[in-house]
This record gives sequence, structure tokens and C-alpha cells, in this order.
Amino acid sequence: MNRGIRNAKAVGHGLRAMWAYARHRDRCAHPPTTLWIEPTNRCNLRCIMCPVSLRTQGKTGFMELDTYRSLIGEVSPYATTLNLFLGGEPLLHRDLDTMIRYAREKGVVVRLNTNATLLDRTQAEKLLDSGLDHLIFSFDGYNAETYEGIRVNARFEPTLTKILDFLALKKDRASPHPYAVLQTIVVRQEQQTETEEQAFRARFDGLPLDAFVVREAHTWRGVFQGTDEFDPHAYGARYVPCPYLWSTMSIAWDGTVVPCCLDTCSDYPLGHIGEKPLLEIWNDEPIRALRRKLLAGEYRDIPLCSGCDLLWTDRAIAGFPYTFLKVSLSHPVENLLGYRLTNALKRLIKGEL
Ligand code: SF4
Repeated sequence: MNRGIRNAKAVGHGLRAMWAYARHRDRCAHPPTTLWIEPTNRCNLRCIMCPVSLRTQGKTGFMELDTYRSLIGEVSPYATTLNLFLGGEPLLHRDLDTMIRYAREKGVVVRLNTNATLLDRTQAEKLLDSGLDHLIFSFDGYNAETYEGIRVNARFEPTLTKILDFLALKKDRASPHPYAVLQTIVVRQEQQTETEEQAFRARFDGLPLDAFVVREAHTWRGVFQGTDEFDPHAYGARYVPCPYLWSTMSIAWDGTVVPCCLDTCSDYPLGHIGEKPLLEIWNDEPIRALRRKLLAGEYRDIPLCSGCDLLWTDRAIAGFPYTFLKVSLSHPVENLLGYRLTNALKRLIKGEL
């Protein structure tokens, strides 16, 4: 099926997700359109805010390529966006570029989030050759002290150099892909100065960085409560049922299906991809029970969700929480219009253009 038609259909599925959510349905007649698949749950860093850093038990490993291929074959008729990361660092998987290429061949848009510490020249060439659509560099801090205090085991200058080298290579090749984003978390003011921020941003002058995103910290579902480096952002006072459960699914490296990308330790297993089709798990009793509980506001009974920031908002559009609209519609719309046009429209709406 043509990519444009698939993504137009995905917008339709996003609208049906809004309908099911608004009607408080625990069963979804539409499929999930965005998936998170975890190449590995291992990570080379121990970032202070990440649940993976706090994990003390449980198995770690890598998704088998055959398992991945079979999963992509199953979901590609309906899933249009794949986030190829969940709890670990995806560049640790030796077949990552093969995974990206395979999903793209099946018409799925592939997004990656990396700490960039392993992004040497070979990895950079592999990523550019793979046709990856969207790449986020997670890089918190404009100076070495802040960055290395948050991203434990990483070093500021060598990692930044890897990102700059990747962008220079992308420029040399005149490659429109991937859409490259530098994402950073707001840290406490005393951690870094405005001059440091300006100097940091200037390092990207003339390079094809498509967006510089500054995000407020969240609590990673209550796991992280703030440190000397930053305070988690307060999301709002109004309770809303979880925005993820009506349009996305997440699959861990060993095939365990979990409710969302924040369940990085498979604390709330919904099923296993080897046992039944994903679309069956999508409407099976475990996830329907979770939808019902969150619709009823019984989040306190669910350890996975009880501390989650995403259950709270102070922003709504036409009665829908902003976070829900973002989760159900942003990826299908981005795929349909392209990241650059969507970003320009967002900036126009915010009055930045
Ligand atoms: S409310 Fe629960 S299922 Fe939803 S994003 Fe938060 S932790 Fe995940």
C-alpha cells in the first residue's frame, strides 16, 4: 500500500481513537498506529532520572532479528510509526541498521532516540544509509559539569563532537534524512548560564539540525523525584485517563507487550508476541481492565501508573486533553505532511513564524 494512503488511514485511526476515548470504550475497533519496539534494554549510561539506571534485577538482552522481522511483518499493515527504542540504548544492537531498513521497506516510518555516545563514523554511515526518518539526540546540559552530572558515564565534549560529526556527514551527503533533533531537558538555573547556552547552540551553526527541543523534566511515572540538577515539571491539576492506551503499544526486547514506553522494566505485562497476535493483545482482558481502571480514575491501584505525570493536565482542546491529541494524532499527521512542514505549522500556530 502507498505510504500516503497508509498514513491518511492512520489519521482516521487516530480520530477513531479519540472517539473510543471520548465514549469511554475499553475495546478499540481501530488498531494502534504507533509502536515502541525495544532493540535492547541494556544501556551504557546511568542517567540520574532514568528507571533503567535504578533497575537492580531482571534479565537484560537483545531482540532477535527473526523475532523483529516477524513482528514487523505482522504489524506493518496497520502501524505507521515505529519508535525503535524503549528502555535501553538502541545503538548497542549490532543489527540496528538492518532493523531500520526492514521496517522502512514495509512502509513504516522509523524514529530513533539515542544518547549518541556510541555514534562513531561507522555507526553514522550505517544510520544515514538505513534511511532512518527521525533521530533524536538526548543531550542534557550546555556545559560539561551539568551534562556529565546528569548523563553518568558519558563525556560532554566527545559526545557532542560525535553529534556534530554526524550532522557534518549528513550535510556532505546532502541527505534530507533523518530529521535531526537535539533534545535537552531544562535544568535548574544555577546549573548553566545564558552565555553557555548561546555558545552551545552556536556549535550547530551551518549544520543540518532540524530542531532544538527544550523539554521540562517529568518524573518517569514517579520513579524520579528531582535532584540538584532539575525539578520535574508539574503537568496540571485535572485528571485524565492515560493518553497512550488507545493508540499505541510497546514491545520489550524479549517480546513482552507492555502498556506504554514508560514501562521500561516490564512491570505490567499484557501478553507476549509469541503467544497471540498483537491485535488480539490490543483488546485482550489485561489491557481492557487497565483502560477501565484508568477511565474510572482508579490509578492509585496500579503501581505502574500511580505516579505518572501523564494522568494530569491543565491543557485541553475541544474537551480533549492536549496530551491525548498529541499521542493519537501527532505521528500520523507528521507522517502525512512531513516533519518539516508539520514543525513549521506548529511554529506558525504558536506565533513563532
Ligand atoms: S498512565 Fe500508566 S500506562 Fe499510561 S503512560 Fe503512565 S505509566 Fe504508562
